[in-house]
Amino acid sequence: MTTETHATAGSQAPGMPVVVDGRLRSTNPGTGALVGEYPVAGPGEVRAAVTRARGAADWWGGLGFAGRAERLRRWAAALARRMPELARVVHADGGKPVSDALLEVTAAVEHVAWSARNARRVLGPRRVGGSLLMPDMGAVVEYQPFGVVGVIGPWNYPVFTPLGSIAYALAAGNAVVFKPSEYTPAVGQWLVDSFAEVVSDAPVFQVVHGLGDTGAALCGSGVDKVAFTGSTRTGKRVMAACAETLTPVLVECGGKDAMIVDADADLDDAADAACWAGMSNAGQTCVGIERVYVLDAVADEFVAKLKANAEALTVGDEDADLGPITMPGQVDIIRRHITDAVERGGTVVLGGPDAVQPPYVHPTILLDVPEDAAAVREETFGPTLTVTRVPSLDEAVRRANATPYGLGSSVFSRRRAMATARRLRSGMTSVNSAMAFVALPSLPFGGVGDSGFGRIHGADGLREFTRPKAIARRRFRTPLPVLSFRRGRRTDEFVQRLVRFLHGRG
Ligand code: NDP
Repeated sequence: MTTETHATAGSQAPGMPVVVDGRLRSTNPGTGALVGEYPVAGPGEVRAAVTRARGAADWWGGLGFAGRAERLRRWAAALARRMPELARVVHADGGKPVSDALLEVTAAVEHVAWSARNARRVLGPRRVGGSLLMPDMGAVVEYQPFGVVGVIGPWNYPVFTPLGSIAYALAAGNAVVFKPSEYTPAVGQWLVDSFAEVVSDAPVFQVVHGLGDTGAALCGSGVDKVAFTGSTRTGKRVMAACAETLTPVLVECGGKDAMIVDADADLDDAADAACWAGMSNAGQTCVGIERVYVLDAVADEFVAKLKANAEALTVGDEDADLGPITMPGQVDIIRRHITDAVERGGTVVLGGPDAVQPPYVHPTILLDVPEDAAAVREETFGPTLTVTRVPSLDEAVRRANATPYGLGSSVFSRRRAMATARRLRSGMTSVNSAMAFVALPSLPFGGVGDSGFGRIHGADGLREFTRPKAIARRRFRTPLPVLSFRRGRRTDEFVQRLVRFLHGRG
């Protein structure tokens, strides 16, 4: 039987994944060239992968921190050596320019190396403070792996984003079953194959291919945790599916990140950063800047600099600054946001409705779009920026925070930068830069509100893939046992005196 989904095989739109005879076909969104075909995993295949992973997890966990770190370092080295090759696969599968793909891989390698280097320090056993009430007891805490972690990834950063979960889950001692996006299966396969070249003893890191159904099957497959990165809509579905089995979830969703440009900001730097964080990867970045709030006093100068930066960008294939829109369906959303913004009185500084030329969208800057327009409220995921003039920093903060999302943000200011960063309702903020937190492996990454919860990266990212294990160890016998029927009146009186002495004088 031939099963075809999303598009008929003969008329497969460039970049649109299609399943033919149980195989997922991936094509380049710019050229339509076939990138690869991968067997689709149904619920049975997913469960089988998880069963294999369970055996592998025992072996991998048994290696200890040093054994795992050594292997992860070798994998990081292999990734570092093969960066150009991987970047080409990313370009072929998702369409992004090779230079953007290289930058993505670079950041991902840093995270693999960091997680390997720091897992023992963060997760290993450590003594924690005892209690005067029970001087005989020592307290030890350590972080143990869950076992098997299911990772569901998006297509926009098909290396960096899933590895933010995968590397940290592996370093913590888990086996991983990974469901890449249907738009970037070749990248997912490449990652798993490259790991298997380093670790061939057991299937510690496996891939299952398919559409959303395969992701749903992974949620119900008996994995011990699901790490999901994708849209808020799918994130809610994943949570609902995981609720059935009380499987814990990490949910990294979309954003509508804002940049604030203060009156004393360096406008050259701010314009450069807004242009890059808004337009790179053709705007298909979860922590990309989509809204800018600039103080009136410097707005004209800032907009002129931003326009000059953005109009110099090239759009096209592998060597351009901006590649195609990866998901053909996203083009309609971007067009709707731009058209609506213009109809509602926004001024086109650059681009506009004519900038939408599928599969490409040219840089678009829209000035003073009403705050309730889709271009300001919803994730656009295209190379567009709204710029809004505001009378004060307080008003900039109020508007930046007036969104259900809360992923990243950015502030350009001299005197008030750190104070403003703290007031922004987002998981991460870059000061006098944009998206910089992404490439600092020690910083936790994640959002609030509709952007999800839980953290990847850094020490919090390692702990996210573990369960804390508390051990209370009796070190010697006391003459006044507290936790025993042998306690007696003497012990009760002593304990009360001690508690009053310790806490009763405040
Ligand atoms: P989707 O939510 O469409 O898909 C994400 C993943 O979930 C894909 O692998 C998808 O498979 C899978 N999936 C779809 N349906 C289900 C289901 N019912 N159960 C389980 N899994 C399912 O997101 P996109 O791939 O379009 O990614 C873009 C989104 O990701 C944007 O909103 C972006 O902001 C966000 N994102 C967030 C990041 C963060 O760290 N916070 C980082 C990067 C992106 P399939 O592709 O086969 O449908």
